[in-house]
Amino acid sequence: MIKYLLGCAAGHQFESWFRASADYDAQSKSGEIACPYCGSTEIAKQPMAPSVVTKRAKAPATQEALPVIGGGGPEGAPLREALRAFTEKVLANTEDVGPRFAEEARKMHFGEVEERQIRGSSTPEEARELAEDGVPFGILPALPEDLN
Ligand SMILES: [Zn+2]
Repeated sequence: MIKYLLGCAAGHQFESWFRASADYDAQSKSGEIACPYCGSTEIAKQPMAPSVVTKRAKAPATQEALPVIGGGGPEGAPLREALRAFTEKVLANTEDVGPRFAEEARKMHFGEVEERQIRGSSTPEEARELAEDGVPFGILPALPEDLN
């Protein structure tokens, strides 16, 4: 079976099934196909969007973009300064656990170690797992100059 999108001379569009494309040719030639809206037998095939379902390719985690604030000009300066002050405050009040962040955060969440403020790095994969486990954490925005 073949489904065609058909259109009449008046611009109506409708779908119709045919056993084969030859059936459509024969029926349209002999005027057997009529528009269901106006009865016109001046029917033509319309271009139909292909209904192909494609799997969306998932980008590798390493290619995930980091949110950054950039842009020059005096307007951006207060924003960058606020971000820097915030980052410094976080750095001054947290313990750096480096790449063990996910492990430490999880331990604290499940009460295996005493709660404290920590910071560190995690892979996007680790961050996703923490979020799934309900472990509270925040992602520190990176300053453009830290990305060297
Ligand atoms: Zn019509």
